[in-house]
Order: sequence, then C-alpha cells, then structure tokens
Amino acid sequence: MPQPPRAPAHRGAAAIGEFTGPSSGAPGAGELLQLLRDGQPRTRAELSRLTGLARSTVSLRVDALLASGLLAPSGEAASTGGRPPARFAFNPKARVVAGVDLGATHGRVALTDLTGRPLSEVAEHVDISAGPITVLDWVVATTQRLLDEAARDSGDLVGIGIGLPGPVEHSSGRPMRPPIMPGWDGFDVPGHLRRHWDVPVLVDNDVNIMALGEHVMAHPNLDHLLYVKVATGIGAGIISGRRLLRGAVGAAGDLGHVAAPHAPDVLCTCGNTGCLEAVASGRAIVKHLTAAGVPAATNSDVVALVSGGNIAAAQAVRQAGRTIGEVLATCVSLLNPELVVIGGSLAQAGESLIAGVREVVYGRSLPLATVRLQIVPATTGTQGGVIGAATMAIQHALAANRIDEALAGA
Ligand SMILES: [Zn+2]
Repeated sequence: MPQPPRAPAHRGAAAIGEFTGPSSGAPGAGELLQLLRDGQPRTRAELSRLTGLARSTVSLRVDALLASGLLAPSGEAASTGGRPPARFAFNPKARVVAGVDLGATHGRVALTDLTGRPLSEVAEHVDISAGPITVLDWVVATTQRLLDEAARDSGDLVGIGIGLPGPVEHSSGRPMRPPIMPGWDGFDVPGHLRRHWDVPVLVDNDVNIMALGEHVMAHPNLDHLLYVKVATGIGAGIISGRRLLRGAVGAAGDLGHVAAPHAPDVLCTCGNTGCLEAVASGRAIVKHLTAAGVPAATNSDVVALVSGGNIAAAQAVRQAGRTIGEVLATCVSLLNPELVVIGGSLAQAGESLIAGVREVVYGRSLPLATVRLQIVPATTGTQGGVIGAATMAIQHALAANRIDEALAGA
C-alpha cells in the first residue's frame, strides 16, 4: 500500500479544503479522491462527467486508488441494460491518524479514521510543565498503545496533529515563548515525534484546533466561522473561506492581549494593562468575585455559582461577555463571519456569557455584517480538540498532490 511521501515536518499546510492538484495537465488521482471524500459512491461514468476526464483516464486513476485502499467498491448502480456499472467510494478506514490535544493539565490522544472520526481515545492527567520530552514521550507511548490495540501497524498511520496550549509557529511546529509551558520554547515537536514515525506532524495552538474540530463536527457546511475560547485565557480561531487563517507567524486570533475598550487599568500577566484577558477571562472573573466577597478559585467555581443562581457571578460573567463582545464587534466587522462560536470552560456558564456577547456585537456592528450572523455556544466539548488536530493531519495527508506523489512512488 502506498504511503504519503516522507515529507519534512510540513510546509504551510492548509487546514480545510486544500486543493493542490498536480502541477500540470489533467486532474490526477489525488484530485479525483478530493471529489470522493464526501463519501458518496460514484461510477466511472459519473466521475468522467464530473471531471471532464476520458473514461479510460478515470479507470486508470480509479484502479490506482483502489490498489491503495483509499477507494473501495461500493455496490452497483442501477443498470440501464446489460451489466450494472460498479460504484466506488472513499474508504476512510484505509489509514488512521492520531489527534493529540494537550492542555495545561490534560492530555488526550485519539486514533481516528480519515474523516476524523475517533476510533479509540485515551485521556489522562498530563502536566504540560513537565517539559516537552516527558509529555511527548507520553504522546508516543499512548499513540503506540492505541495502534497496538486497534491492530494497526505503524505503516497505517499517515499523520499526527497536535494542539498545544500556547503560541506555535505552525510552519515549524515549534512553540514560541509559551507562557505556561516551561522548557518548550522553540522545541522541535515534529522532530521528536518523527523519530518514532516517519509521517507528517502538524502542530498548532489549542484554539485553532478547537475551531477546526467545531467546524468539521458541528458546522461543516459553513465557510466563515470565528471560534472564541473563553477560559483562563481568551483566544480565537478564524476559519475564513473554509481555511484556518493563521497569519504570518501563526499569531492570528490571539485576542487575549488586545486592549479592551472602556476597560479599567488592570495589570495583565503580559505586563500591559487593560488587556481583554486581564478584565474578562475566567482568571479575571475569579479575582473580581473573590474581591467582592463571593469566593471562587477556579473557572468551574464560577460556572457552579452561575448555575446555582448566584446573581453577582451571573452579572460578572455577563459583563465579561459584554467586554469580549466589544472586541468581537471589531472582529465581526473585519472578518464578516456567518457564525461566532463561544467555547472554553466559561461558555458552560449558561446563557450569561453569550447574552453579554450578543448584546454588544449586535448593538455595535452594522446591519450588513450581522444580518446572517449567529452567536452560539460550542457543542464539541472535550472531543473537539482531538478531532480538530486529526482533521489538520488528514487535510495535509490527503491533499491531492501528496496522494499523487504517494501513488507515483508505489
Ligand atoms: Zn496582556
């Protein structure tokens, strides 16, 4: 079975809908596969009509994809007389990828099929501050265990996607001065994992992979989505034209340290004052409530207080929502998303947070930007991270040009 090429860590991989056809001539097998990734079975004649390729060319491409296992026979179409034509469909079980979601104190690894659907999953307490070697060795051991349990050999693994709780230079997969990850600054994460498996390893920050996970799981038909994580920190993942926008060095969406309009002069962990994170994050709400005589130590405490009907907590969360909304109103004008998804642990505080966000975003934005805009809570929960990480790896591994290279080298 052909394997995707032995690529360097990766280079500027697109997240969603990456179409990178062969450099010249007619669509290759890789591009044919992109058509079929919707899972719908098709005949050679249908593929010929859809691509404009000659039937004989389609047959060659289909044969190559069948041999790789990425395509599988899928019954027969209705006959118009004579032998009914065979149909083929994308076979998402042909290979697996590993999706890894690392937080401050948790680690989660899922083995998924080629649609990003988890086949098996492990979640454990993992301390990111233990440093890259300890944590990544746990990732390697856990992934190997999942492969063994699924009776998959390492040749079936075609990629690894990893989300980290800090800024990441996506093109190199190296964390960049991550505040809560001592020892990780500049560490070659893909290099460490590729000592064990010679596959592409893609690394991004946790908010971007949560945005990807939310997109593929809950809103696969939307083109423009802004995912905002409100937890101990605040950040956003931007999906525009079905692609994750990362910016020049992967810092796009890093909203935590923009100045919140009308915010008090509260000192932030970054050294500035009045940052969004300093006045509207879980950490800020915990501080504010405790100072007001409503003791809270964690984001879960805040969520529990709101759920239990504590008015001061509900007001504090709603005010945080308004402050976040002031920044998001600017983002909405800039990006014109169809949907703003609010995730992270504070989003579990019922309607309070979202109500505050909606109040300001709808009030502050021009009608054209909000006419179709919805602001909703995230729905993917704890699985969003691993699914997003797996999706990032799949989009890379199944890109048309990589499939063509792999088939050519078979
Ligand atoms: Zn700051």
